[in-house]
Amino acid sequence: MEEPVHEKTRTDDDDNVALVLYGVDDLRMVPWEKPSPKPGEVLLRMQSVGICTSDVHFWTWGRIGDYVVTSPMVMGHEASGCVVAVGDGVKNLQVGDRVAVEPGVPCRHCNYCKQGRYNLCPDVKCCSCPPVHGSLTHYYCHDADFCYKLPNNIPYDHAALLEPLSVAVHACQRGGVCLGSKVLICGAGPIGLVCLLTAKACGAAHVIITDLMEQRLEVAMAMGADQVVKVDTKDTQKLANHIRDTMGDAPDVSIECTGVEASITTAIYATRSGGVVALIGLGAPMATVPIVNAVLREVDIRGVFRYHNCYPVAMEMLSSGSVPADKLDHMITHHYKLADSLEAFETAKTGRGGAIKVIIHCD
Ligand code: NAD
Ligand code: ZN
Repeated sequence: MEEPVHEKTRTDDDDNVALVLYGVDDLRMVPWEKPSPKPGEVLLRMQSVGICTSDVHFWTWGRIGDYVVTSPMVMGHEASGCVVAVGDGVKNLQVGDRVAVEPGVPCRHCNYCKQGRYNLCPDVKCCSCPPVHGSLTHYYCHDADFCYKLPNNIPYDHAALLEPLSVAVHACQRGGVCLGSKVLICGAGPIGLVCLLTAKACGAAHVIITDLMEQRLEVAMAMGADQVVKVDTKDTQKLANHIRDTMGDAPDVSIECTGVEASITTAIYATRSGGVVALIGLGAPMATVPIVNAVLREVDIRGVFRYHNCYPVAMEMLSSGSVPADKLDHMITHHYKLADSLEAFETAKTGRGGAIKVIIHCD
């Protein structure tokens, strides 16, 4: 593969390195040019960056759907940093501000952007989604209005998790989770777990969560799940009945966080008539699901794609304690330095040592 355009070709005074994906199974730590902020941007000294399932997927498969790695790409998009320089015209931030980085910057001009659903913008540029560089580096520039100044009580590690928490906020909003809701969450990976915390913060009365792995269900209990169900059958109707029996009722809202066909099927069967199934999980592009069952019982099936206007909400949830910091800590299982990023990715990929959320410290 050709050399990356931003790779440093000569030594200069500002040492910078980045974790760069060159292709399938080819991650390298390389010297990388320190950028300068353009008008409207801030230069960040990166702090905590979480590894996401999608980062691992690009590393192992080189693609997700139509997004294909064709040129070297810096990894990382669940990020926090400290402002070290501001570009012309930046009014909302100053040098020294601690920020969370919302990784997807939309065009701001299309109808989706104007209507506020900027996650649907066809021209959104999102960190570590090819060909857009991510933030696993020491120095990184980002649009200032997509950086959120952190209150003092949100540490950098938690600020990095505002990204998945924003997915969860959007999912709970799309699903209509509210005071008293009975919620089923399918999958106790990082996304399912932040959905659990967010559903509770929305006032859900009862949250039940499923997974194949006992260890993840134990973490879910520690994080406040009312009940857990270990999935040990391929009979989706039977599993749905078991979920309803365990809950003592049918869920109003199911949030699917695996992308697995059987799990989507279970979610549809389990959800009460007139309820909602919110789909976050990204699995096979085609799936056979009980669509007539959903039609006849008016179960709404809604897609969830990232988030829009959710960072401020997620930040308030954390800062106010609606999402308790000690509960969030249960899912942060591993910490690595930027220099040890390859090892960090290996841990995230294999799940060794009970890994759930792996954080890389860039500073
Ligand atoms: P993950 O792979 O770490 O977690 C998925 C969990 O589901 C695992 O714990 C796994 O054991 C469990 N699981 C697998 N099959 C199951 C089954 N049949 N029943 C119950 N549990 C089962 O992934 P994650 O980081 O938590 O992300 C979850 C999904 O959300 C992924 O598909 C990811 O690509 C997707 N995602 C989508 C968006 C979006 O904007 N739509 C954003 C982030 C992540
Ligand atoms: Zn747009």
